[in-house]
Amino acid sequence: MKKNKVILIVLDGLSNGVAVRALGCVHGLIEAKIARHQVLCCELPSMSRPLYETILTGKKPYESGIYTNSISRLSKEKSIFHYACEAGLVTAAAAYHWVSELYNQSPYDVFKHRHQHDESKPIKHGIFYHQDDYPDEALFEDAEYLRTAFDPDVMLIHPMGIDNAGHRFGVHSPEYMRQVRHSDAILGAIVPQWLAEGYQIMITADHGMNEDKSHGGMADVERIVPLYAIGDAMMAAIPEGSAKQVNIIDYLRCILNC
Ligand SMILES: [Zn+2]
Repeated sequence: MKKNKVILIVLDGLSNGVAVRALGCVHGLIEAKIARHQVLCCELPSMSRPLYETILTGKKPYESGIYTNSISRLSKEKSIFHYACEAGLVTAAAAYHWVSELYNQSPYDVFKHRHQHDESKPIKHGIFYHQDDYPDEALFEDAEYLRTAFDPDVMLIHPMGIDNAGHRFGVHSPEYMRQVRHSDAILGAIVPQWLAEGYQIMITADHGMNEDKSHGGMADVERIVPLYAIGDAMMAAIPEGSAKQVNIIDYLRCILNC
């Protein structure tokens, strides 16, 4: 059986309405019929750390106990990284340091934990960052290093640039829109190469962003996020129209056969 490899991209703080207006390269893949777009309503609260846990373990914040950003401890749940490791797959992540705190080690030490290579950890190969203005280009370069050096079967890529622009300028600002376009340019350059190498790709967001430069609540701009399925197996794994954030892990496990 053909072995699929998966790249999961979580564009932190990307509201669906702006995604649709700004992600021209990604929507070009849809017009070429190699990708599909649908929307997700994120779980509550619409905050980062709780929803990293939801995306990666399938548990809602009040099930996982990670219901605020300030709850800093290892996850007690089984993540996509755990399932992949059990199946003998290679895992990697280029992500914000909270992901390391959830699955590899907590608390995060900026001087010790930026680069992690440990076969005994759920994320076997990780490059993590802690500054909210860490450039998205650098993060994608970190991910490309991990991909080419360690050939992961499943890799998380998690840039913070869009969320950071939203917190500084708000969801309806030109700055936020331009940051989303900037992500699109990076994706437009690299996704076709990954597709040519046989990867299945998902692009989504943890939560959106409001005009008051924050998020956490029920407003559509904060809660409705995109879900892009790129590649045949990814499109087949996600039910059209009824996808849920808590089921993302199921779609990924189905593709990875783990
Ligand atoms: Zn945020």
